[in-house]
Amino acid sequence: MDTYTVHLAMAALVGASLVAVSAYYMHRKTLSQLLEFAKTVEREREDISEGESLQHSMKRRGQLSRRKGNGYYRRGSASLPDVTVISGVIDGEEKRNGPIHVDGIPAGLPRLHTLHEGKSGGRGTPVKRSASLIRPTTPKSPSASAFESIEGSDDEDDIIDNSKLDDTYLHTNGNAGPNLPDRSNANGEAIQIAASSMIRTHSISGDLHGVQPDPIAADILRKEPEHENFARLKISPSEVPSPDEVEVYVVLQECLEMRKRYVFKEAVAPWEKEVISDPSTPKPNPNPFFYASEGKSDKFNLHLMLNVDKEFLAQKSAPHRDFYNVRKVDTHVHHSACMNQKHLLRFIKSKLRKEPDEVVIFRDGTYLTLKEVFESLDLTGYDLNVDLLDVHADKSTFHRFDKFNLKYNPCGQSRLREIFLKQDNLIQGRFLGEVTKQVFSDLAASKYQMAEYRISIYGRKQSEWDQMASWIVNNELYSENVVWLIQIPRLYNVYKEMGIVTSFQNILDNIFIPLFEVTVDPDSHPQLHVFLKQIVGLDLVDDESKPERRPTKHMPTPDQWTNVFNPAFSYYAYYCYANLYTLNKLRESKGMTTIKFRPHSGEAGDIDHLATTFLTAHNIAHGINLRKSPVLQYLYYLAQIGLAMSPLSNNSLFLDYHRNPFPMFFLRGLNVSLSTDDPLQIHLTKEPLVEEYSVAASVWKLSSCDLCEIARNSVYQSGFSHALKSHWIGTEYYKRGPAGNNIHRTNVPHIRLEFRDRIWREEMQLVYLGKAIIPEEVDK
Ligand SMILES: [Zn+2]
Repeated sequence: MDTYTVHLAMAALVGASLVAVSAYYMHRKTLSQLLEFAKTVEREREDISEGESLQHSMKRRGQLSRRKGNGYYRRGSASLPDVTVISGVIDGEEKRNGPIHVDGIPAGLPRLHTLHEGKSGGRGTPVKRSASLIRPTTPKSPSASAFESIEGSDDEDDIIDNSKLDDTYLHTNGNAGPNLPDRSNANGEAIQIAASSMIRTHSISGDLHGVQPDPIAADILRKEPEHENFARLKISPSEVPSPDEVEVYVVLQECLEMRKRYVFKEAVAPWEKEVISDPSTPKPNPNPFFYASEGKSDKFNLHLMLNVDKEFLAQKSAPHRDFYNVRKVDTHVHHSACMNQKHLLRFIKSKLRKEPDEVVIFRDGTYLTLKEVFESLDLTGYDLNVDLLDVHADKSTFHRFDKFNLKYNPCGQSRLREIFLKQDNLIQGRFLGEVTKQVFSDLAASKYQMAEYRISIYGRKQSEWDQMASWIVNNELYSENVVWLIQIPRLYNVYKEMGIVTSFQNILDNIFIPLFEVTVDPDSHPQLHVFLKQIVGLDLVDDESKPERRPTKHMPTPDQWTNVFNPAFSYYAYYCYANLYTLNKLRESKGMTTIKFRPHSGEAGDIDHLATTFLTAHNIAHGINLRKSPVLQYLYYLAQIGLAMSPLSNNSLFLDYHRNPFPMFFLRGLNVSLSTDDPLQIHLTKEPLVEEYSVAASVWKLSSCDLCEIARNSVYQSGFSHALKSHWIGTEYYKRGPAGNNIHRTNVPHIRLEFRDRIWREEMQLVYLGKAIIPEEVDK
């Protein structure tokens, strides 16, 4: 390995030396010819300056050029001849071609020495130079155009813009005319030199076309035809190259070939892409910052163009079934916000009326009844309204996850949250249990709406699991329309600060040890055992936009993680995933239900959250940041990872509704579903999930077919049992493409699913170079 590196280094060294040698050869060859050429130019210039009336300035110019020239000629080490010295007014294209192909310099033309003097030289851009040659018929002198070319090329073709042209001359020719205001020019020297007679008349009038050329300019004009017989530089070697030289040329060839291979080139050249038939100046873009989404998902739109009628017809012919009675699962909703605000208000009022003397809370050393709590807040049941409840997200919550979290407090009071929205309070969460049951019965009444409620386990102590399980069991919280997910708030730093935990491992232990215990021996936690049958997923929640320390290879292990900082998202995700993976293997081996990893990811924050969950998660909530990473978006598409998206929630927190990528993802065929996230804070109606669909359908013009496809996706993504899925979307739902569809259940036409399936297979074959092996069944 080492010798190989040394060889490589030696090869590079030899190559570099060869290039240097070849450059030297080339240099020496051209040197004599250039010298000759330069002398000719010098002679010609002397001739002109003698005939001029303004000898002073011209001589000065001559001196300058000589001085420069001498300096250059003495510099033997210069690797390439500086031809700009000689061809000060060569037009741009020639200049770009380098020193070898030099022509187009009018022989009698005074040299424009501003080019050699720092800033002014830099301003002479090639484009302007060629522009000056485009108009050979303009009466102005070539020298004037050369000056003009230094600045203001944008106005070259728009002579009407006199003010700008004036400016141009003022910059290059400070003392141009007596009736012009004295303006400063950064390039003082250039002004002095440019104080020649050449363009003064132009400057005064400001109109290039109206001027009468003065004698000197006319003299130059008369010489213009000499463009044609200008001395051309011929430097191609006449002698046969020596073997050494041939060797050098071969190395140079290789260098050029290497460059060809390495340097970026467009696959289709601009001139092949665009044929220009209009010779006039290209029109400026009147609105350069206008955004129009790029031609996205053309295949889907093409499919719609061809088949939308057939799809609609197929839906019409599916008896009984329509959007209202296809099953749709709210794939992402937090339990403590699962009721809408009106529902919570009604519940609080009824409790205040029916159970005013129930002791509900222990505060400041005393037990308080519900009535006393409201008295302490100076509130009566009659005062309460939705506005006073103030749990709804508003403008103040946008990009403020902290303020959004505060909205969980009814009337801004944490004690009301504790009484009504917590399950581990003085009344053992009885009120929350009751309101949950009401929500369950609403769901059951709707029959076709299901929900997966996410409920928190914090990892502060191991008994949390048993508390929650007993709350579920004692309140008989069970519904055919509901399954549960456990959400773990990423709050290590908070517990660490409070002294509840010493290391990150404590949290992992508190979360996973009870689960392993109950899996190994169900008798150890019987209530938890029955509750776990209803738990289908594990979630990670918190504000993803919080700054976090980027994960590195060398991070402390969880038991070494004793510092005060919160681990990064990926750290949480990995350890939850890894422990859950082991747990699931164990549960599977015992014939128990498994728990899928379904975290919040890509709602905000770094893109690496989505990379992490791509590798670890069954499906995710949100994923709106996939819009920022085409590669990850494509990967999520290919893997058909479910996205439980909540555009109304995003609209309250992180992303305006009209910017939400949901419609784009849907068109592209990502596995997307609609979910409510937090009905308490976000939705206004009794059916928050239908509200979510309704707004999406209106804003994004989703058809009935689209809505039914999204509803079908939601069942796919959900953790409901195989039996229920079979019943809801068809007995062969697990098969890919149209084979897995039953339009009588889903109201999704086969045409739509066949289209999705074909496009997806094409993409898979593309990525696997035609060798993709695609199983007939979807991923488990
Ligand atoms: Zn959420």
